[in-house]
Amino acid sequence: MNFYSLADRLAPRSYGLKLFAAAFIGAHLPLIAGVAMLALSSGPVDPVALAGVLLAATLAGTGLALASLRMLLSPILATEKALARYEADRIVPELPEHHRDEAGRLMAATSRLLRQAEQALTAAEKAAFTDPLTGAFNRRGFERMIPRDCAGAFLMIDIDRFKSINDTLGHDAGDRVLTATARAISGAVRRGDVPARLGGEEFAVFLPDADLMTAMEVGERVRAAVQAGVRAGDRSVTVSVGAAAGGAGASALAATMKGADAALYAAKRAGRNRVTPYLPRPALPVPAARARRESADKR
Ligand code: GH3
Ligand code: MG
Ligand code: MG
Repeated sequence: MNFYSLADRLAPRSYGLKLFAAAFIGAHLPLIAGVAMLALSSGPVDPVALAGVLLAATLAGTGLALASLRMLLSPILATEKALARYEADRIVPELPEHHRDEAGRLMAATSRLLRQAEQALTAAEKAAFTDPLTGAFNRRGFERMIPRDCAGAFLMIDIDRFKSINDTLGHDAGDRVLTATARAISGAVRRGDVPARLGGEEFAVFLPDADLMTAMEVGERVRAAVQAGVRAGDRSVTVSVGAAAGGAGASALAATMKGADAALYAAKRAGRNRVTPYLPRPALPVPAARARRESADKR
């Protein structure tokens, strides 16, 4: 058994008494050994033998005191390790909370505080990264969920004529439509896809590793799910969807998102309730591009 646990039985409330016990045993071992030798010997004691016993007992006492003090440090070392682990990996380690001396109370208080800090941090992150109305990721959460080194596709989704829902049925009905739309979108995408509400009545989905064809299929599933499942009064709610696919890296992802946004507005212009792909215009061959620039300069 560890000296700390043993001493804890003798002096459960005092760390100071435990330290005293370790020092006392170490310091008094030579005295105890000397007295024992004198008491046990029947004749005169050989001074050289006595000196040898005292020296051996001094060394043993020093070793014992050092080992006991080291064991008494164990709750403090465990506390330090717990704090370092939380700082490095945000893992709340298990620390015993039943010891009642000063070092034990330090362990228990550290354990409680780390748990509280973790709960507060998790709640703050949830508030910072999710939309309170729909429970979906907000823009900040969406951006955080997209790995920068991952290629993929974006769907940009906007509810059609949403203002008229608010105007005719009221803001609360509008909010219910937003919640139902978020649910329909989440239900229509695959596990691993990242749906989010970017603001107002605009939603987005990131589809990791998807190409444009897959994005169009998922976009159509989303469009159909909203039309079939979301109602405002006696009419179905519809969405327009823009889809774009692109490569990995922060700037490529930003360009793909911009492409999906452009495609969404093309879908609106084309009559709404549809999925439109973003097809980047192929670069013109150099002579054609130059001719176009020169004719623009002339104008
Ligand atoms: P379009 O088909 O062109 O997208 O038309 P729209 O009416 O959907 O678009 P518009 O941008 O004109 O209107 C969006 C409306 O969304 C206006 C705003 O009042 C409403 N809105 C934004 N955020 C919320 C919200 O959190 N709750 C509710 N109920 N309405 C919101
Ligand atoms: Mg809209
Ligand atoms: Mg809009």
